[in-house]
Amino acid sequence: MRRVDVDHYTQADRAVTLKPLDVFGRDAVAGGARLHGEVMVASLASIYKKLKFLTNENLGWGRIHLPEIELQTTAYWLAGEGLTGWRRTELDVALLGAGRAIQTVASVLLMVDPHDLGLVTQVRSPHEEAPTIYLYETVPGGVGLSERLFARHDDLIAGASALIGGCPCDAGCPACTGPRLEPDLDAKGLAARLLGELGAPEVLTAG
Ligand SMILES: [Zn+2]
Repeated sequence: MRRVDVDHYTQADRAVTLKPLDVFGRDAVAGGARLHGEVMVASLASIYKKLKFLTNENLGWGRIHLPEIELQTTAYWLAGEGLTGWRRTELDVALLGAGRAIQTVASVLLMVDPHDLGLVTQVRSPHEEAPTIYLYETVPGGVGLSERLFARHDDLIAGASALIGGCPCDAGCPACTGPRLEPDLDAKGLAARLLGELGAPEVLTAG
């Protein structure tokens, strides 16, 4: 390693796939079901992006040649079996935006580092056959966070909704729904609508 003086940082773009291996608990909730169990997470870093400090402007990218990493761990997930009438592109953005907010709230509720929990969203999970948000533990085997998240499902949904509703941004930002990947879609409005369908109490919106 060598020290460099640059105006950007790099971020690996990981293609992450997640497959449930065993379900330890499952309950019906508004909009679908909450679950926790054992999962296999495979991640492959294929490219890295050069991002400008502060603005996160994309300055370029390069290839990474590393083997796939497999992680057997535990996860909490939310399967939106009851969600209907969503357009696929909007649902994709809504799941990711709501998932980011749930991930932020989860790390605060459990008082853990945000990097202790990974996020995977699937518009149609092959396992659940429904739109699904997974929060998995990044420590092999997990340390019990998933079961605690499963128990606090209602607080996660309500907290994520309040985080998004209370954010002063217009249409989603890194502080609430995460970096905007689809500039034409209102990530904030879509994530708020999704959380509402998942039982979040109504929040007064700012911004
Ligand atoms: Zn925001």
